[in-house]
Parts: sequence; structure tokens; C-alpha cells
Amino acid sequence: MRIETDLKLGFKDVMIRPKRSTLNSRAEVTLDRDFTFLHSKYQWNGVPIMAANMDTVGTFEMAKALANHKLFTAIHKHYSLQEWKTFMQSVNEEFMDYIAVSTGTGSTDSEKLTAIFNQSPQLKFICIDVANGYSEHFVNFLKRTREQYPDKIIMAGNVVTGEMVEELLLAGADIVKVGIGPGSVCTTRVKTGVGYPQLSAIIECADAAHGLGGQIVSDGGCKIPGDIAKAFGGGADFVMLGGMFAGHNESGGETIEINGEKHKQFYGMSSETAMNKHVGGVADYRASEGKTVQIPYRGEVENTIQDILGSLRSTCTYVGAKRLKELTKRTTFIRVQEQHNEIFSK
Ligand code: 5GP
Repeated sequence: MRIETDLKLGFKDVMIRPKRSTLNSRAEVTLDRDFTFLHSKYQWNGVPIMAANMDTVGTFEMAKALANHKLFTAIHKHYSLQEWKTFMQSVNEEFMDYIAVSTGTGSTDSEKLTAIFNQSPQLKFICIDVANGYSEHFVNFLKRTREQYPDKIIMAGNVVTGEMVEELLLAGADIVKVGIGPGSVCTTRVKTGVGYPQLSAIIECADAAHGLGGQIVSDGGCKIPGDIAKAFGGGADFVMLGGMFAGHNESGGETIEINGEKHKQFYGMSSETAMNKHVGGVADYRASEGKTVQIPYRGEVENTIQDILGSLRSTCTYVGAKRLKELTKRTTFIRVQEQHNEIFSK
């Protein structure tokens, strides 16, 4: 047994210090980024915020709404080949820059991935997603996927430490997904005791990735727009959101009435609800590591997108970053013992 005593921080432990700025208005801020990916060498332009590959978030409808603003969607892995085919007939070639096909590492996952790419070779992004990115099986799957798809952009995770980010980049990932346990409907920390405060995970993993020319996506734990700004400030190249995009028209999941008010169901991909729906129940050797919640219906995601982008532009104005790219350089975090004033919160 060992104890590490270095301080590790989450979003709630810091604020971003304002800095003198020559920007007159938040309209001067651009949130677009240009990346050239490590292995695929593909040049991408867009706003680096993405919807999580959960079936109550990363839907085709969500992708259409987000792509209008050049935001990205990791499409969940439970659509059938036929559903993919129909969807692909309704979108154009540019749209391919803003969606990923998600997969696990099982043999049926890999067969389905191959079938989707055979059917629609114009797709560009693959998201290989497992709860525990530290397994050798996952790394081998990533290597094989890279061999099979040398030109595709591969995003893979999840991990939270620099040495594993390096291993995944060397094994063929362009973008490493970072986050274990911070998710809004995740119970991994409760069930297993395993995790890593998300802001420190971002800072350490971004440093490792950038040293090799790779990128990271911070996955999980953003509750409010300010957290997204902190994730970018800490060095995240992309930020993935689950809960913040849940509960809208475009989110999947059932709509339920509770005391006359519309709610939408939102659940973790390892929750009992998800396992019952997709794999016929919770296998007897494992526990569910996700929650099921009902969240008040939030209307069209368009309003949420505007709120997120407007907030992020405002952060950039406070620290004098004309472009999102400059935000990390312009960020000084201060450690705090308070966040926002909750006196009028419910
Ligand atoms: P959020 O933005 O809601 O805080 O986090 C979204 C992320 O939570 C997802 O992208 C995924 O990495 C993670 N997640 C989704 N479902 C589950 C689950 O059932 N269990 C765990 N441990 N994590 C989950």
C-alpha cells in the first residue's frame, strides 16, 4: 500500500481569476478550434464540445442539433445497422466531422463497427469506450482498430493518468478520453472506491498527451457551464457532456409525467436500466455502476447550446482570451472554499 499526498482538485475546488483584457465584447471571441490529429493526420475544425455516447444523450437527433453549431456527438452504440443507414441518407458529407461511431471491445461490437463502416465508409470518427481503460484487452483492441482503420480518427478511453494516456496514444488513439467516476449518473466511486478528481486528471493527462502531439477529451463531471470553462482552462482539448445535454427533446429516453410535470428519464450506461434494455439484465458477477434519474423536461437543446456557448465566450472575455485556444494559457486557477451563492436556489 502507498499513499500519494499531492493535492488533487475537482471543478468545485477552484475558480478562474479574471485578467486584464483588451476584448470589448464577447462577440469578439471565437470558440472554433483547429486540430490536426496525431495518427490520422486529419485536420478538423469545430467547437470542441461533445455529447456523450449514452442512449439518453448521444442520439441522431442530438447530433443534428449540435452539428448546426459545429459541436460534436459521440453516437451511442445501440443503433441498428438499418437505423444508421436511414440516418446517413439524411445528412451530408460535412456532417461526418461532427459524429463518432461508438464501440465497446467485445467481438460483437467489433463486427458491428466493421459493418457500419462497410455500409458508410465516409464516416470518420470512432469512439472506443470502456469503463476501465487500464485493461490490456482494451489496449490490444485499440491497436487492432488502428491497424484496420489507419485514416480514421480514433478516440479511446477512459483513463485518468498520464502514463496511460501515453500508452493509448502510442497504441493508436488520436484523442484520449479522460475521466473515471465524475459522471452525473455514475456510481463507480460509491461502488468501487476508485476515481480521480476530474480537474487534476485533465491537467495531468493534457500535459502527457500534448507532449506526444495528441489530444484529450474531458469526460464527465461538468454540472454547469463554468465547469466546462474550467475543463478547457485546465488543458482539455474537448469536453464531453452527458447530464448537461440530457432531458431535452433531442435526448433519447422516455418522457414521464410526475405530478403533472414532464420529466425525461436519464440513466448511466452501466445502470440496471441500461443493462435490462440492452443486454437482458445485470449479469450475476457484476454490480450496476450507474444511476437512473428523472429530470425535468428542458425543451429544445438549442437553448442549452446558446447558454453554454455564451457562457464560454464570457469566460474568455474575463481572462482576455480572444480564442478558445488561448484559454488555458490565460487561466490562473485559485483554490477556493466556496462556489456560487445558493441562497435563492431550491
Ligand atoms: P456527465 O456529463 O453526465 O457528468 O458524465 C457523462 C459521462 O459519464 C459519460 O460520458 C460516461 O463516461 C460516464 N458514464 C455514463 N454512464 C455511466 C455509468 O453507468 N457508470 C459510470 N461509471 N459512468 C458512466
